[in-house]
Amino acid sequence: MSSIELYSPPDMGDALRFIEHGDKNVAVIASGTDLLPRMRRRLTAPTVLLDISSFTEDLKYISQSGGVVRLGALTTVTDLLESPLFDAELSLIKEAAQLFGAPQVRNVATVGGNICSATSSEDMIPVLMVLGANVKLVSSKGERVIPLRDFIVGKRATAMRQSEILSEVSFDAPRGHAWTAYEKLGRRNMLILSLVNEALLLSLEDDLETVRLARVALNRVAGKVPAHAIKTEEFLAGRKLSEETISQAQKVLASELSLTSDFRGSAAYRKEVEEVYLKRLIQRCSSRIRGQA
Ligand SMILES: Cc1cc2nc3c(=O)[nH]c(=O)nc-3n(C[C@H](O)[C@H](O)[C@H](O)COP(=O)(O)OP(=O)(O)OC[C@H]3O[C@@H](n4cnc5c(N)ncnc54)[C@H](O)[C@@H]3O)c2cc1C
Repeated sequence: MSSIELYSPPDMGDALRFIEHGDKNVAVIASGTDLLPRMRRRLTAPTVLLDISSFTEDLKYISQSGGVVRLGALTTVTDLLESPLFDAELSLIKEAAQLFGAPQVRNVATVGGNICSATSSEDMIPVLMVLGANVKLVSSKGERVIPLRDFIVGKRATAMRQSEILSEVSFDAPRGHAWTAYEKLGRRNMLILSLVNEALLLSLEDDLETVRLARVALNRVAGKVPAHAIKTEEFLAGRKLSEETISQAQKVLASELSLTSDFRGSAAYRKEVEEVYLKRLIQRCSSRIRGQA
């Protein structure tokens, strides 16, 4: 077996210089819950691991200021579960965190690692997509902020350059009559990679009937990566919520899904669950909004 070098830089500046000038086959490692099993299965073979896990002062935080919520890349799933910020309108974050792995995984799995893994089974990607999240990428040359929806470019493929580290995810806290919700189905209740997942942000007009904005994201829309269900979002915007609207929205959703069958479940089953989830999420969000008003 070839040897793997582990480099633990003293600070972020050193880490950024290292990936800029170092070995091209370097992989950033946060907690390793995704990377290490993949290395063990020989699905990836970096020769150098750049360990950023000690940068907790710079990269582990949850904050809200001026209506913007910021999550440092090393924020863990347990940190999300413990934050009071996600008890009300942003409760989809806690719903996703509760369904994430098991306590041992939640205690170490990071938000940054989840997003950078860029697969259809990652919970935090659709959640952060419906929140309209941006990701901050830093390099020794500076930083850039791009929408999460542009960051994920394919299965296990992101818009991150070799010289960059993801440092932060940020999004605007929902304003007005808005709520969020998340559903996930796996083959068991714990330690599940999602068979189907779906996230919704719903915002209603002052009449509490008309949809102002709907953002729907799922792990598979047009292919194997998480994405927005754009046609469903467009269909719902401006319509009065009724049984009929929801039923039509389910059909629109079904028409834009591109699902495949695998050993976890058939495409037909996945489609049916996605439709049921859409109804459930809309009903949950609208009743919470009306309960708050
Ligand atoms: C038993 C088990 C259960 C799991 N259950 C779930 C689950 O329910 N839901 C779910 O979504 N996932 C689950 N996972 C997958 C994994 O735990 C998550 O994706 C986790 O969030 C990854 O975070 P990490 O810190 O361990 O990332 P790592 O494994 O350290 O890194 C993952 C990838 O991201 C890159 N990376 C990490 N951080 C950065 C950064 N800041 N900048 C640039 N690149 C970076 C790494 O190079 C690597 O390619 C599970 C894994 C295991 C082993």
